[in-house]
Amino acid sequence: MKALKEQDPEIFSIIEKETTRQNENFELIASENFASRATIEAMGSVLTNKYAEGYPGKRYYGGCEHVDVAEDLARERAKKLFNADYANVQPHSGASANAAIYLVFMQPGDTLLGLDLAHGGHLTHGSPVNFSGIIYHPEFYGVEKDTGRIDMNKVRDKAKKVNPRMISIGASAYTRDFDYQAFRDIADEVGAFLWMDMAHTAGLIAAGELNDPLPVCDVVSTTTHKTLRGPRGGMILVGNDGENKLGVTARKSGRTKNWSEVLDSAVFPGSQGGPLMHVIAAKAVAFGEALEPEFVSYQKQVKANATTMANEFMDRGYNLVSDGTDNHLILVDLRSKGLTGKLAEESLDRAGITVNKNMVPFDTESPFVTSGIRIGSPALTTRGFGENEFKEVVRLIDTVLQKPEDEDVIHSVKTQVKEMCDMFPLYDFATTP
Ligand SMILES: *Cc1c(COP(=O)(O)O)cnc(C)c1O
Repeated sequence: MKALKEQDPEIFSIIEKETTRQNENFELIASENFASRATIEAMGSVLTNKYAEGYPGKRYYGGCEHVDVAEDLARERAKKLFNADYANVQPHSGASANAAIYLVFMQPGDTLLGLDLAHGGHLTHGSPVNFSGIIYHPEFYGVEKDTGRIDMNKVRDKAKKVNPRMISIGASAYTRDFDYQAFRDIADEVGAFLWMDMAHTAGLIAAGELNDPLPVCDVVSTTTHKTLRGPRGGMILVGNDGENKLGVTARKSGRTKNWSEVLDSAVFPGSQGGPLMHVIAAKAVAFGEALEPEFVSYQKQVKANATTMANEFMDRGYNLVSDGTDNHLILVDLRSKGLTGKLAEESLDRAGITVNKNMVPFDTESPFVTSGIRIGSPALTTRGFGENEFKEVVRLIDTVLQKPEDEDVIHSVKTQVKEMCDMFPLYDFATTP
């Protein structure tokens, strides 16, 4: 980064400090991960200069012969990874992928039935402050107070009552796997489309560590930067048998006969302009990595580490929503410890441990305070942490939470965090040429 260092020392120094922060802290935010050096190099390339509105072979700009190959590689690798008939790798983010899905399946005012944000859902599934709740009519299902799990009978009752045009599955803070076939049966019963947003769990699904939504759902969206460990971005997929899944929808829309063209045109020109070709190339790199056998071992370790964390916390007397986890994250309910999510997040942050405060289902605190913290294993697993290290992570978190305002404790934990991080080096290249 020689040019940047010379030309803009202010920004260079921010990148330097952020690199150190990532290197020296426990990154436990469940939606974050560490992309590979190869992925980051592709993102930092001259491909950022290229306008490529349209799709490979059908662009609105000249000079696309090389970026076309990159986008084709990204699409083909994504299809192979998820055994899909269709992949659109252009969405700039998870939210952008979702916007295109609404454009295809919903008319303004149509009803969406999705998981309540306060029970682990996502903004783009009908929150009143998001386009999805402003343009469309949101209805919600939730989790049960005693189990922390979705009761499919209640989903069915709700679906029959509100008659949704589309049902969404997927979450940002749900610790259990989904029963896609049960959702499919409900969707069929009420004549709704079925959409899975696997933003958080795509990597685990690709590796076969969670149930696969692609054979069952009409359409699937994801981010590429969470468990999938690629560059920041989004993607839309349709499983095998796309014609059967979406042919009818496409013909009804009257826009074109071909269902894949309907989805493509919802991304561009429907909701985006020029694609980020540098990010699309980086997606291809990350999908290439995900097709390697090492990726499956990584995802198995992500799951094993989350399970270990869950057990360690429960052994130490903490309450976990759903009493454990099936995936990469846990939700700690701090009420029995007399702590708020806000205080826990702040004191852990000072000790070099990064988590986020999070609402627990039926929370009595505001979203700015909350009663819980969400903790994920993907990033530290990328770093090489195994189950023994995660036991140590929980011990250090517990040490801080027992005395969240004791500066000596925080200082001592911070030293131990740094020592462990030094044993598992992460980035040595981000601020060097
Ligand atoms: C993270 C997430 C998104 C949004 O992804 P962005 O890239 O932040 O827009 C959408 N849906 C779910 C379920 C998510 O967890």
